[in-house]
Amino acid sequence: MEQTLTAKVRLYPNHEQTQQFEEVTKEYQRLCNIVSQWYFDEHFLPERKRFQKEMYHDLRAKSNLNSLMVQSVFRTVNARYKTVQTQLKQRPFKYKTDEIGAKTGKNVWKYIPRDLEWLRKPIKFSRPQADYVRSYNYSFVQKGTKISINVLGKRIKVPFNATYLPFSLEDKDIKLGTAKLVCLKGHWFLHMSYTKAISEWQKEDNQHVVGIDRGLRFLTTAYDEKDKTNFVSGKNIAYKRKKYAYLRSKLQAKGTKSAKRKLKRLAHQENRWMADINHCLSKTLVERYGQNTLFVLEDLTNVTFEKSNSNKDQTRELHSWSFYDLQTKLTYKAQRNQSQVLIVSANYTSQRCPRCGQIRKENRNHSLHEYKCVNCGFRTNDDRVGAMNLQELGKQYISGVERPKFELNNVTD
Ligand SMILES: [Zn+2]
Repeated sequence: MEQTLTAKVRLYPNHEQTQQFEEVTKEYQRLCNIVSQWYFDEHFLPERKRFQKEMYHDLRAKSNLNSLMVQSVFRTVNARYKTVQTQLKQRPFKYKTDEIGAKTGKNVWKYIPRDLEWLRKPIKFSRPQADYVRSYNYSFVQKGTKISINVLGKRIKVPFNATYLPFSLEDKDIKLGTAKLVCLKGHWFLHMSYTKAISEWQKEDNQHVVGIDRGLRFLTTAYDEKDKTNFVSGKNIAYKRKKYAYLRSKLQAKGTKSAKRKLKRLAHQENRWMADINHCLSKTLVERYGQNTLFVLEDLTNVTFEKSNSNKDQTRELHSWSFYDLQTKLTYKAQRNQSQVLIVSANYTSQRCPRCGQIRKENRNHSLHEYKCVNCGFRTNDDRVGAMNLQELGKQYISGVERPKFELNNVTD
């Protein structure tokens, strides 16, 4: 399996080289905007062949950029339009119709999917930048101490900060791709994309099975094959979240334009904060259990969350988003560490007795957060039961059950 990543490398150009960087990135930007206009005029259908025929020679005649970089311009513009196309698709145009919904008694909203034709003007490249193809337009030289890079009409050697290079230049599993030269707050950076070969998780080599229950009281409850449980408390999170909810309700009550702006900023802040927590949570889990681990999570797609007394919908939305975010981050990090995430059905995972296997809703006492099996007497914390049952499904998966899940066939009443 291959993984594509980006390395951000700080460059240290001297005075003359800085000017050369400025020239080349401005020139590249200028050509991007010319090609973007052409792309727009041609109704977003241009192919590389047509670019070669209609644009390439003209651009070459009027620019000092070398031939490969002129061709990169097409790739850059094309990629940007593709990104925008995806964004438009994800955000359909919506409007209120005159039609009144039979159930709701309110005006019905209509959604129209959008494509590039909805753009009223060409995409503008507002930042100077330049894209480089590896080995033709940039490479490491002088035993990896400098980067040799093309500017207008020549190639220069620039020192860079090797300390933060996330890979070794000798590593044969690393393949460097295209790089982008940009200036951020007066500093020059080369954003290099690279692919790394990583060994995949194999069922036969699996050593640890960990069930992970996500919740509010405990952010995660992890149960492993050695009968060890690890709880991560959600107390501090809940406290901070309450503060956010309080601020939110105050701003909502105001209802002014500036309050709405602040609300938006607050939501961003809260999401970033949650994303950061999820990053730490998933990192810790992956590091704790090491390679060859199967993490088992329940599928939360159709699960409704516990009621909360503050703004219900918003809270629920945030939870489902943050639970999903944790799943995404854990999946990504696990794969990078020769491990895997398995998503299983959430059915009966909080009702089944991990010891005798009986499924009984009454076994769980929500208010006491306790699980007590009336059949065999097994007793534990109710968050732990979820993790234990998930771990059980993981074991079944390892032993060959393709879609392990619990079913109501062993109920005794
Ligand atoms: Zn039992």
